[in-house]
Formats: sequence, structure tokens, C-alpha cells
Amino acid sequence: MNSVLQKLYWKSPYFVKCWLASLNSIKLDKQRHGPVFQKTFEQIAKREKWSPEQFFQYQSEQLQSLIAHAAAKVPYYRKLFSENRIDPESIKTHDDLQRLPVLEKEIIRADPKCLLDETLDIKKLMVGHTSGTTGTPLELYRDVKMNSIVWAYNEARFHAMADMRRRTNKSVSSFGHLVASPDRSKPPFWVYNRRWKQLYISSYHLSPEFLVSYIDKLRKFKADYLEAMPSTLYALARYILDNNIEPVPFKACFATAETLFDYQRDAIKKAFGCKTHDQYGCGEQVVFAAQCQHGSMHLSPEVGIVEVLDDNNNPVPIGQTGQLVCTSLINKVQPFIRYRVGDTGALQSEGCSCGSMLPVLKEIQGRIDDVLITRDGRRIGRLDPVFKGTRGIVEAQIVQDDYDKFRVRVVPSQAYTENDGKEIQLSLLARVGRAEVAIELVKRIERTSGGKFRAVVRNMVTAEDV
Ligand SMILES: [Zn+2]
Repeated sequence: MNSVLQKLYWKSPYFVKCWLASLNSIKLDKQRHGPVFQKTFEQIAKREKWSPEQFFQYQSEQLQSLIAHAAAKVPYYRKLFSENRIDPESIKTHDDLQRLPVLEKEIIRADPKCLLDETLDIKKLMVGHTSGTTGTPLELYRDVKMNSIVWAYNEARFHAMADMRRRTNKSVSSFGHLVASPDRSKPPFWVYNRRWKQLYISSYHLSPEFLVSYIDKLRKFKADYLEAMPSTLYALARYILDNNIEPVPFKACFATAETLFDYQRDAIKKAFGCKTHDQYGCGEQVVFAAQCQHGSMHLSPEVGIVEVLDDNNNPVPIGQTGQLVCTSLINKVQPFIRYRVGDTGALQSEGCSCGSMLPVLKEIQGRIDDVLITRDGRRIGRLDPVFKGTRGIVEAQIVQDDYDKFRVRVVPSQAYTENDGKEIQLSLLARVGRAEVAIELVKRIERTSGGKFRAVVRNMVTAEDV
């Protein structure tokens, strides 16, 4: 939406906003839920009980088709195959894939359109961006077909983990939608899409003075599901717990787009009486995993081939942590082949007790957005234990200004004491070694333009950001 339309929308009465939200969902249905969505959704269901061998076979077939497509229609790959004298037809399985170089983000930064299928009309494509802490965001393109496939996996392999059907079940959703003007100082901070039975709540007005009206609305709305970024789920949950308000029941919560920390998961469970299902993926659509009822992150092998590599780009044994390098099998608009995602993780050798045959991704950490980097090149992720045991924090952000210079920006609650600050300092020092750690008390922590909360901000460029 352009800024004039956005302002007009903000000034509209509530019922007009709701009507516009429903109207907009007709357009979104065309972009997401058409025949390709239906077909993909049904095909995914048929593969649910497949054996690892069947998935391997499927991946090999899809890989061959992807490589042929990339060699014929994507200039970058055409050149790559010819310069390296690789016959595209010789790439048939996962092992053959290793003959191709790892695709680094800087190649796409230098030429943002180099991976695009040259036969597509760029004006007809949807465009989005990656969200990195440093470096220029990458431009990501989709057509309606690919977009529908992505939404089908989201529904079949994420929402289905807790039996949710979007547009059938009543749900509350918050993903940085600009549903209310930033200047708005009284409810409603939400808008209702009747067609999808979905209430969109603003993630920009979650201050203590407004939270009471959010909780009140959630209680009256009586939705089955709540999907939002962890920082939003946690802000709502924390308010309920800190003020001893009766829990607002949901069947399940869904968390995406940010790292979900254990302390957030615990608070959400207490405040909403349900589990939170986490999801792992990225805008490049090279990998997709979502948490089942038993807490395992099940990969969708049809979305992408996941390799776990050491620092020399050699595969590590199963179970061992390494760099995630993934090949998308669903992105033919902009094929990402052996793409270094920037996160680390491991594949789990044993299956999950839930009975699903889908492989399990474990120990995803060092998401590029959420790591501190030390002078000796260590990536320190999983920083939630830094805040363990400190009750007086509404939210906090770690800012790394240099290798040995940190600030922790804390939004204190009434229960905050200086001792909390000291504990955070000590706990962070225990992870980063000799460094300067300052505590800054702030009123709020600003969100990114996409509404995301950033747990870690690095104000320095390291070798891997270049
Ligand atoms: Zn499972």
C-alpha cells in the first residue's frame, strides 16, 4: 500500500477498515489459495507416510528438473556450468550436487537479479526482501505459482501440527501488519477480516498502557489460535502473568520470523494454556521446518535439500552441527542451489516419537540475526540464558558495538532492580569473555520496518558480512 492510501486507511472508521481487510483477502486468496495451493496441499498429504528412501528418490527427481531449468533459463547457472565444464545432466543426486560451488549471499548482492529465470516478466512478480542485521537485504521474487506452494506447506506442515485450517478456524494474527496508525492512542489496535475469521492485531502498540485493551479483546474474540512473532506473543503473555490476569485460552500458538526463546515459550504456556509451535524457514524458500506436538522440528524434504557442512564445505556426520547449505526444490523463479543460509544446525539421526517419518532438524542456532561474533570468530547464539532468572525485564536487546563492546538495552518492569542488571552483565561476560558490557534502561525497543523485534544488533562489520 502506498503512503497516501495507508493514511486514508488509518483515518477510516473501524467498520470500513474491517471491510477493506476482507476485500484485501480476496486479492490474497488469488495470490495464495488458488488451484496450485489445493493441488499441492493434497499432494503433501499423500506423502505424509513416505519412507526416507521415497523422499530421497523424490528429491533426486526434483533436483534433476531444477538443474535442467536453471541451466536453460538462469544466466548465472548457464555461465557456472559452462565455466566449470559441468554437464547439467550429470547432476542427478545429492552426491553430484557437491560438485557445484556453495552459493554465497554476496554473489546475489553484487547482482540482485542474477538468479532470476530470464523468461519471466519481472513486472508481474511479487518482490520481498531478506531481513539481515548487516549488509544490503536481498531482493526475493515469487510468482503466484510458487507463492501458492509456499502457503500450502505453511498450512499442511505448520498449522496442521495443531490442526489449524486458516480461513476455517478463528484465529488472531500479528506479523507487522500496519493495522493502526502509529499515533493511535486508544483501541482498536486491530482489524477483523470476516472472510478469513482472522483478527489482525498491531505489533507496534504493545506498551503497558495499551496491553490491557489487547487482552480484553483477545478474551472477547475467543479465537482458537494465535500466530505472531515471539516478541509479540511474549509481550501479551508477560502482561497477563505480571498482572495476575486470568489466562486467555488458545488451542495453540504459532511463532515465526524471530528466534523463540525458552523463557518466552514458558510464559506463553502459562498465559495462554497451550503449546507454541515454532517454525524455521527463510524468504529464499530453501528450507522449511516446523515443530510437531512432541517438540521436534520436522523438515519438509520436498521444499529443499539440506546439507550440513564444516568450515571447509565438507559434509559433517549426521548429528553434528555445521553450516546449513540448502537447495530449494520449489523456487524456480530464482533458483538457490547450494545456498549458504547463514545459520548453523544439525540433522538428527533418530526419528521422533510423534510417529512422523519427516526428518528432524535440531539445534538451529546462530541465526545470522541473533548471534554475537567474537574477535576469534566464534558465533554466540542462544542468548536467552543471559536473561534467565531476571524477573524485572519486559524485553531486552543486546547491541554489539565492537568485538569487545556491548550494550544491553533493557525495558524494565516495576520489579527491576540493579541486581538484575548485574546478573545480565555477568551472564553475558561468561559467554563473550573479556569485554565491556553496559546496561541501558530504555522505555521501548524499536521494531524494524517489518515489525520485527531484534534480539541482537551488531553495529560492526565482520568478515562474513562483507
Ligand atoms: Zn515429531
